[in-house]
Amino acid sequence: MIIAVDGPSGSGKSSTARGVATKLGLRYLDTGAMYRAVTWSALEHGLDLDDTAAVAARACALVLSVSTDPQRAQFAADGTDVTEAIRDPRISASVSKIATNLDVRKELIRRQREIIEQSQPTGGAVVEGRDIATVVAPQAELKVLLTADQDARMARRKAELADAVTAEQLRDQIVRRDADDATVSQFLVASDGAVEIDSTHLSLEEVVDVICRLAKE
Ligand code: C5P
Repeated sequence: MIIAVDGPSGSGKSSTARGVATKLGLRYLDTGAMYRAVTWSALEHGLDLDDTAAVAARACALVLSVSTDPQRAQFAADGTDVTEAIRDPRISASVSKIATNLDVRKELIRRQREIIEQSQPTGGAVVEGRDIATVVAPQAELKVLLTADQDARMARRKAELADAVTAEQLRDQIVRRDADDATVSQFLVASDGAVEIDSTHLSLEEVVDVICRLAKE
């Protein structure tokens, strides 16, 4: 079984997808982390992020190791553990630029489909991102579009980040990235058959329960 969980930043996708995967005994794939790892690598190599050919070549050459254990998400890029580094605000500020690079998307979508395929013998995966239901895995048995209003998303991101986060940094994380991601909206069109869950007034457990119930229908 494949469960697609799409939604904007701060909608609670990651915690939700991990919770559902743990409860149903499925693998878990965080596709946003893959875009972040390419961003990390491009910056590490000192690439000009506007040089689309160089960035795409970097994405293709990158040895990316992605753990699909919902209890222990871990990422390595060319042998370096980048699990923490890819959450840095510096990466969040540049990742949308990488995500608009069509050749990067092509390469990462190919790798995401491979990882999904590898999860099939053990029961499948919960896959979170922006274009899972529409592009990466339109065959998913369950497609969830997770939303939450902007205040709720900012409050959740604030709780995730260090206490020292400023209002400006928060706006950067949510409002500016929404705007940046709007430029990739051509890939992120609404999917037929997706169930929209507005998590603004729901707890994490409630959202996980709703999705697990839908998965069993
Ligand atoms: O999910 P997360 O916020 O970590 O994703 C980081 C960025 O990667 C998003 O802001 C978006 O630009 C990009 N992304 C994407 N397609 C996906 C997952 C993430 O374009 N499937």
